[in-house]
Amino acid sequence: MKNVVLLGPPGAGKGTLASRLVQAFGFLHVSTGDMLREEVAKGTPLGQLAHGYMARGELVPDEVILALVRQRVDARKGVLFDGFPRTVAQAEGLERFTSVDVVVFLEIGQEEVVRRLSSRRVCGACGAVYNLVTQPPREPGRCDRCGGPLVQREDDRPEVVARRFEVYMRDSAPLVAYYAQRGLLRRVPADRSPEEVFQAVAQILR
Ligand SMILES: [Zn+2]
Repeated sequence: MKNVVLLGPPGAGKGTLASRLVQAFGFLHVSTGDMLREEVAKGTPLGQLAHGYMARGELVPDEVILALVRQRVDARKGVLFDGFPRTVAQAEGLERFTSVDVVVFLEIGQEEVVRRLSSRRVCGACGAVYNLVTQPPREPGRCDRCGGPLVQREDDRPEVVARRFEVYMRDSAPLVAYYAQRGLLRRVPADRSPEEVFQAVAQILR
């Protein structure tokens, strides 16, 4: 089994792809966002430490993130890293306790990301998520589940999506270059259906 890092801007379909890869290949899914929330909720020492930074609106330092990942992963193979590493420093830290075999970078243009994310709507009452293009509600503007009003989150407004995309591309560029230099980077076009993206990645992993 390989250790795989999944990279890509918001809206590239990382979440959908990650769950399909876990189903098909039996990966251990390591999402640092989920892990942080779990540790904080359980009140572990690392969770308490991380919570201090988050409560002050600061980034959780690399050492804390790395300790968290290490306790979950140790020397295991067959790990799918999702949302981690974020920086070259984290990538170097990761290599001190496990290896990375393939890095999949989902490539997508800003226009497509804006089109996808700005069509997202959430139910103001129960939080159910819809997409006006790919998963519309039965009745416009109303939640199928509870009848609540569908609203657009601030984060999904076109100008905010465009900004998030730019920030991601800028901040991830050194990490993408780092993995390219090591010959690990595989660029996968992500401006197509989830099924096509999954098939392309599955072929790389086989
Ligand atoms: Zn609802």
